Amino acid sequence: MGKMIESLFYSKAGQAMLSAAGVKSPLELSRYQGENPWVTGLTVLAQVASPELQKVLQLANIRSQVFASGQPQACEAMLIDASHFTQVAQLDGLKVFFSQASGQLKKSGHIVILGLDPESCDKVETAAVMEALSGFTRSYAKEMGRKGISVNLIYTQQVGAALATPLNFLLSHRSSYISGQPLYVNNKQNTPQDWQKPLAGKTALVTGAAQGIGAAIARTLSRDGAKVIGLDIPAAQQALDQTMAEIQGVSLATDITSEQVSQDISEVLAGEKLDILVHNAGITRDKTLSRMPDHFWQMTLNINLQAPINVTGALEQANLLSDDARVICISSISGIAGNVGQTNYAASKSGVAGFVRKQAQLWQDTGKTINAIAPGFIETQMTDQIPFMTREIGRRMNSLSQGGQPVDVAEGVALFAQPGSNGLNGQLLRVCGQSLIGA
Ligand code: NAD
Repeated sequence: MGKMIESLFYSKAGQAMLSAAGVKSPLELSRYQGENPWVTGLTVLAQVASPELQKVLQLANIRSQVFASGQPQACEAMLIDASHFTQVAQLDGLKVFFSQASGQLKKSGHIVILGLDPESCDKVETAAVMEALSGFTRSYAKEMGRKGISVNLIYTQQVGAALATPLNFLLSHRSSYISGQPLYVNNKQNTPQDWQKPLAGKTALVTGAAQGIGAAIARTLSRDGAKVIGLDIPAAQQALDQTMAEIQGVSLATDITSEQVSQDISEVLAGEKLDILVHNAGITRDKTLSRMPDHFWQMTLNINLQAPINVTGALEQANLLSDDARVICISSISGIAGNVGQTNYAASKSGVAGFVRKQAQLWQDTGKTINAIAPGFIETQMTDQIPFMTREIGRRMNSLSQGGQPVDVAEGVALFAQPGSNGLNGQLLRVCGQSLIGA
């Protein structure tokens, strides 16, 4: 029955009925198609206030054109530098810039607003003005979502080289399903990187790499030059081998909750260190709390939360993480908003966010970083299990009115994995099309 309703819904007649009822089909988002380096080819219109930011744009390989009012020039991305604002009256600059320039932005384009981290501002009015950028960003993202346009905010402690990598990412089609989000950049020295293959020479381990989001992460890290070790349970070995064969990766069939998992990883590394560790493997075992069997509770917390903590700790203790290792965990919107029937899953995923925040503090004076991604509704076998109408609602309840693709999460992971992302530590980046859930 569910499948019948689904095929009717997506048939020509069904879509025509929906359109007559005012339900619009979502706009197809532009995604990165292999042009290199990433932002080249996109026209970026920028309002840049300082020579320091001009230098960052050069470093980030972004060829921007300075916005001149009344200029009828189409572009795919826009950047406005609000980091010099100190007074409420200067926020008018946002209204003036976007009312003149936004008509020139193509569908599925990108807007980035740059501000100073409110925590790093000395004066109260400056801090308030910087915080105001966040409300503006979230609202403008909701307005521009209809055109498939993403609007994001970068908060920096100072305008400098550490901005290059996040700017390059948010101004490109690699971030199409991320909208309404702030990224906080600290003022660590930037590590120069190759924009073509930023992960060349790096070894990455991705858990749960046989299918879905994990397989997309493995492919994306490989595209960016990393040698990938894909880990999944022995029952998934065939699919894992297939994914790894595509990217000349190495399969490791083991369970992340088993006692010998770190030993297994160490054997595959064969004396090398791990540069990138992605904790992606995860499960759902949904039931309302009063009906939840003990093993649903335990399995979910063990796989989603205990294992990432244990494996990270064991690899660090065994000195198997390189000095500038990048650890990336997959959390979930469910951990932010909660969900009926997901007390176990949501606890595990907010636990992941807590793990990342604390571990990031412990690593702040080292070269290592740890960050998390909270996906919203992503089209995978996991979300295929959801009953049709609930799934359709989940998929549409965001500013872009559609579910994301596994590659959208993978692009976020690849951002945090880059050497130039050393200014990003302890972040929880939502890849959710600005989901209304938990907003
Ligand atoms: P999926 O079920 O398609 O894939 C998960 C993979 O993890 C599978 O290959 C599975 O075999 C592997 N795995 C499970 N237990 C394991 C274990 N003990 N040891 C090793 N591997 C194990 O799921 P997905 O949709 O690709 O999700 C990937 C991650 O993203 C999960 O952490 C999930 O919670 C998270 N997430 C997904 C969505 C979504 O909409 N799909 C949303 C938010 C978060």
